[in-house]
Amino acid sequence: MTEPRPNDGASPWARGFGLVTVTFDRPVQAGALRPGDVFSLHSAPETPLVVRWIEDLEVAAGVDLVAVALPGAGPRLHLPRQSTVRIHRMVRTVTMKCLICSATETLDIDLPRDGEPISLVCERHIPSKPASGEVSDV
Ligand SMILES: [Zn+2]
Repeated sequence: MTEPRPNDGASPWARGFGLVTVTFDRPVQAGALRPGDVFSLHSAPETPLVVRWIEDLEVAAGVDLVAVALPGAGPRLHLPRQSTVRIHRMVRTVTMKCLICSATETLDIDLPRDGEPISLVCERHIPSKPASGEVSDV
């Protein structure tokens, strides 16, 4: 769990799933970051930062920090665990059951891009269609 997972960029919709999501635009706590995530600080929203790895720091009682390493040889970023960041890329693996047949599907979802998943209909119930045009507008 130290290196970013590769992402082929295929969204669940591109794979043929009928997935309902809601816009994911809430701030994310620094402690929730994982390797591969892309975020920016509220003070520098135009500067995306890639998480290379992250670890908990025990500084003192009541002081809860995480150390975030960025690509390159620069210093690590120390952030309060509860502080929030703007998230740009946050791929998480979710397991959902199809509403119709209860088949379990595992999806990689980039929450800021794809939205937060609410319900799923697997590709078996969705007629195939041309590859263009099926884009979430959330
Ligand atoms: Zn199904």
